Amino acid sequence: MTEDLMDSAGLCHRVHAAIRVLPVLPFPAENERLAKDGVYLLFEKGETGHNGARIVRVGSHTGSGNLPNRLKEHTTANKDRSIFRKNIGRALLNRVQDPFLEQWDWDLTSKEKRALYGPRLDAARQEATEEAVTRYVIGNLSFAVIAVADRTARLSLEKALIATVAQCPGCGSSSDWLGMFSPVGSIRTSGLWLKQHLRGETVTASQLEWLQRSIRAQ
Ligand SMILES: [Zn+2]
Repeated sequence: MTEDLMDSAGLCHRVHAAIRVLPVLPFPAENERLAKDGVYLLFEKGETGHNGARIVRVGSHTGSGNLPNRLKEHTTANKDRSIFRKNIGRALLNRVQDPFLEQWDWDLTSKEKRALYGPRLDAARQEATEEAVTRYVIGNLSFAVIAVADRTARLSLEKALIATVAQCPGCGSSSDWLGMFSPVGSIRTSGLWLKQHLRGETVTASQLEWLQRSIRAQ
């Protein structure tokens, strides 16, 4: 292991260098061309690092064969089924100090919550915000996919990539990144549309080697 591989900025740099060769695809995600299982990386207009687009989110999926659907949900699901969409909406609303943010935070997934909040919900604002989120994702986000068939390997790679980018001092958000308007502190400080696994274990030398090899073979 070389010295700079031990350093977290060096690790993140190598991750970014490895993923540069992957095709970067626009939203909405098209099912046919995508690997069925894997880890996805999101990039956002105006956000750069390590000689190119910087990773602004890492995600995966649990159900087998579900990656294309997971990516589709970035532009189709409602915010209570996609924490990513919820967070984009929060930042969009917070940026203009829109009081609808309080209602956007309500989780209407369960019947009980719908009964509780439903009558007070401004449904027109809710729909307009969902549409604004979809427009933002289509207009500003793009993605790349690392195919990983094995569920355990996939989830551990996801976690390690999140920690690697989150702990990197060598890349971060631009001053006008939408995430800087997030009411969620960990999004603002990490520069990632994420809350979990930020302080976890970074990629190991063998994970990095596997990543470089499998991307070349992909
Ligand atoms: Zn970095």
